[in-house]
Amino acid sequence: MRDRFTVGHVSVSPDHYIGGERVSSPTTFETRSPMDWSMLLGNISRGDADTAEQAVAAAEAAFPAWAALSPKERAAYMHRLADLIDEHKKDIATVECLDMAMLQESLELRLVPRGALNFRNYADLAVEHEERVWDSKGTHNRVIRMPAGPAVIITPWNAPFMLSTWKCAPALAAGNTVILKPAEWSPLSASVLADLIDKAGFPPGVFNIVQGLGSELGNHLVNDPRVKRISFTGSVPTARVIGRAAAENIVPFTAELGGKSCLLVFADADIDAAAKRAAGQFDDSGQVCMAGTRIIVEESVAAEFEALFHKYADQHVMGDSRDADTTMSAMIHPVHVDRVLGFIDRARANGDDIVRGGKLYKEGGLWVEPTLIKPKSNQSEVVQSEIFGPVLTFQTFKTEEEGVALANSTVYGLSGIIYTGSRERAERVGRAVRGGTVWVNTFLVRDLTAPFGGIGQSGLGREGGHYALEFHSDLKTLQILE
Ligand code: NAD
Repeated sequence: MRDRFTVGHVSVSPDHYIGGERVSSPTTFETRSPMDWSMLLGNISRGDADTAEQAVAAAEAAFPAWAALSPKERAAYMHRLADLIDEHKKDIATVECLDMAMLQESLELRLVPRGALNFRNYADLAVEHEERVWDSKGTHNRVIRMPAGPAVIITPWNAPFMLSTWKCAPALAAGNTVILKPAEWSPLSASVLADLIDKAGFPPGVFNIVQGLGSELGNHLVNDPRVKRISFTGSVPTARVIGRAAAENIVPFTAELGGKSCLLVFADADIDAAAKRAAGQFDDSGQVCMAGTRIIVEESVAAEFEALFHKYADQHVMGDSRDADTTMSAMIHPVHVDRVLGFIDRARANGDDIVRGGKLYKEGGLWVEPTLIKPKSNQSEVVQSEIFGPVLTFQTFKTEEEGVALANSTVYGLSGIIYTGSRERAERVGRAVRGGTVWVNTFLVRDLTAPFGGIGQSGLGREGGHYALEFHSDLKTLQILE
């Protein structure tokens, strides 16, 4: 076991949590703070084939007893964990803020409490979820939801705590044991979660957390034939690799992937509210999968909209995410900053018009200025590819058909945002815009029972509510002759 280290005021273990014990690996990887890249937060155990072997073995051994519990018995553990998350929300927020640079206030008030809610919500949903029962053709029928086995959950570096809890909760509630592998760029809040899992008294091996690189540890986990579910959130290229492993073992696989969502504004909308929302897409430095990064505005109000957009974008404050005044966090990693600046450089070379921003905010820091680009054409790379940074594009349209066609012109389909003053248009365009979730005159309002997922290259399968419970179960139809 390696020594724990301190992040802010919080003691953090650098090790894996397997079978109810802290377990080290022989080598480590570094995690640094995006707010000050010279700040080394810790050296984390770098999981390998042995780690994967131990974690899957522990999850497999714990599975029969966990699966045999009633949903209500499993819910008791999950509620205890949810209470502990609420009690320790400041610790989790402090660690994630330093490790990933999300705004401390937003973590404490919104994202960490949502983590607790994810466990409560799924604990209760599994208890309430009734078996379908019916009589037909002289037989009595029922659908039985059976736990599937060990589930591997692979998460990305953005919003790591909230996303990990969102993905692990339905697996546990359905009766599966879990191996969570968080992303190597923001591993620390998962280690705090492991301490709370331990405190909550989960049986050893039910909920394991392992640290390491995707191409090493992640790869070993998803290829293990004892794994019965793979739930992934991340990028399209990684989804292709994991999808091949899932295909090899015939394992159900969900993929929540990237997006290039529209923010479609009609002339009949509240233009001020729409412009404010558009500037709000720079929050978290645009590192949000559902961000409406393609602003598409009806031509007759484009000038008015753009002036208001700049007014609101000017109000962003880039700084330390622990400060209440900061609205734009640093970006996660220098490699990601270079990637985002690469998109901007190629846009410049392509003849796209960089209307605002386009540079590093300050030398040596990981903030890119809030950037708006008027593309030369709809085929420009900045319109068609997910950038995952503070870079928005601006296009105009004349007719509703043209607006919808632009909105639907990428390979993605995660979500969409529409601003209109017409209820009829909200219904019509809301149906026409390609996306797993479409918001009208609002954004990010989430009902945890609603399905969540992407169309096209934004993903495969649905999370949320009973959709995730069913993914994590093997459904059996039992027919008895009456
Ligand atoms: P990524 O695909 O690089 O990594 C995601 C996870 O996969 C990490 O834990 C990584 O270690 C792991 N991984 C990498 N290679 C692997 C392999 N061969 N086998 C197993 N695991 C492997 O993605 P990222 O850069 O961490 O995240 C950003 C992406 O995630 C963006 O595209 C963003 O839009 C997307 N995202 C989607 C949602 C959603 O709900 N749809 C939410 C958040 C982020």
